[in-house]
Amino acid sequence: MKPLCHRDGASCGACCGLYNRRDLSRPAVHALLSRRSEALAGVPRTPEAFRATAGRLQADEDPALFPSVRVCPLLGYLDEARSRVGCLAHPLATDGVDLRDCGAYDAQTCDTFFCPSHSWLSEEEAALAVAACAGDPYLYGLVVTDVPFLRAALEGVSAQTGARVEQRHVAHPRFRAALQRLLALKEELAPGSDGLFGAFRAGTDGEPVPRAIDYASLGRAASAYDAILTCVGADPRSGNDLEALEAEVRRRVEACAKAWP
Ligand code: SF4
Ligand code: SF4
Repeated sequence: MKPLCHRDGASCGACCGLYNRRDLSRPAVHALLSRRSEALAGVPRTPEAFRATAGRLQADEDPALFPSVRVCPLLGYLDEARSRVGCLAHPLATDGVDLRDCGAYDAQTCDTFFCPSHSWLSEEEAALAVAACAGDPYLYGLVVTDVPFLRAALEGVSAQTGARVEQRHVAHPRFRAALQRLLALKEELAPGSDGLFGAFRAGTDGEPVPRAIDYASLGRAASAYDAILTCVGADPRSGNDLEALEAEVRRRVEACAKAWP
């Protein structure tokens, strides 16, 4: 499979700490990436200068939400249009000098790390994520790192339409917009929600621990949208309102079915 990090129309910076913040809202993330990009733009391409600027940036930023996971101040926007997220210390961004040792890890770690989605997602699923999140790195990073959610969303649509979602469907603007809206549920969860960070909670065997909504304790039957709701952390312990999320999921899945080409 091609790396998921950078593709035509899609880029991700999740493992560099993009969402590891108390305020991980779209405007806050955009402001942070813009600030870093501006701060690093005129810095001489030397380890000393990059390290000093990285240190200053880090000192000015809010602490990480999960302190055990590093946040790299060298992640920013790669283009003027602010449409691509990526490493500002990578040789492709610095005219050939590798300055990744100045970041949260070292160049070798940055070069060789591939998140679990690389082994779990099929190429077809990856291409659907790229197409559905077209040009939106904020949403793409949230979706491509959450394989169960992406699958649940696609299967939720298939259950309504009776057919698998394929590239030719996502090529239709109305359907693509509806699918993007469904996936954007990931942007609207309560802070600290399981749905934001729970996708890869590993058990002792390294496989993800299945999550479940305790419907019995809520005194109701399981939702028809249980797979999606479980992925987004609709369990009240996550701080999300199950009934409200269920209604929203139903609306967005039905909108996909209505826009089905
Ligand atoms: S989280 Fe995965 S897809 Fe995103 S940049 Fe890291 S390795 Fe690439
Ligand atoms: S230096 Fe490494 S951790 Fe930092 S932004 Fe670049 S790739 Fe990510």
